[in-house]
Amino acid sequence: MGWQIQPDEFESRVSPPEGGGSSAWYFLFVDGRLASLAERGIPQPIDDDAFRWLDVEIRERHYLGQFRGRACYAVSASGTLPEGYASSDLRGWLGRVEPPVFYLAGRAQQILEWLDTHRYCGRCGSETQAHGTDRARECPDCGLIAYPRLSPSIIVLVTRGDEMLLARNANWPAGFYSTLAGFVEPGESVEQTLHREVMEEVGVRVANLRYLGSQSWPFPNSLMLGYHAEYAGGEIVCQDGEIADARWFRFDDPPNMPPGTAISRWLIDAFIDARKAASGG
Ligand SMILES: [Zn+2]
Repeated sequence: MGWQIQPDEFESRVSPPEGGGSSAWYFLFVDGRLASLAERGIPQPIDDDAFRWLDVEIRERHYLGQFRGRACYAVSASGTLPEGYASSDLRGWLGRVEPPVFYLAGRAQQILEWLDTHRYCGRCGSETQAHGTDRARECPDCGLIAYPRLSPSIIVLVTRGDEMLLARNANWPAGFYSTLAGFVEPGESVEQTLHREVMEEVGVRVANLRYLGSQSWPFPNSLMLGYHAEYAGGEIVCQDGEIADARWFRFDDPPNMPPGTAISRWLIDAFIDARKAASGG
């Protein structure tokens, strides 16, 4: 997927390189809101010059790595931003900045949230410290190591010939349909999760799973693994309290769908494009 960070664009590191180098970027969260050098309304990370002059109280400053040769930091602080700055929640950057910059901001928010909730050992209560070589917190008393939290989940478009199975979550605005999704449980393979979730949510069996790609989704810490799967049997039965409606839609007559920034939309568009190509249109 072209909207991801490319492998050669970002180098994840735990400690900054010697000697500084080119200008840094600070993904700065002031009282939980992402600060921006709001140039012409387009959000922009805080750069060295701006960061130096900001009068905020730094709570956490964590090095993330190098993005296109630029050192990137996640910073949490409290205080007031001066005039000329803007702030928003992370969703305010979605679709408004270059996708790699959004994913870096999402990385920063997840790391800061993890640091904030792992100041103390979950086993013995001692104060944790930075691990020497890994991005991890370590307990000096009992040795427990805590890594950033990630929740893998599957997201799947079930297809049957020219049709795709889309569902409406009970909490969504009326008229919107999307793919099925669910979290991987301990002990499960991703394939097992997929079969289980599809059965739980809509009561059908699937076969021929095909992995298409993944997306980091930092609300709060999902890693979504995207699949196509072919219908293999059963009648649609919507899961009580979870799925308000589920039905088959022809590729050339889709309902209202999620925005283009979501992997669900990418899975749907990939199917629609393939069917269009197959039908000569
Ligand atoms: Zn401990």
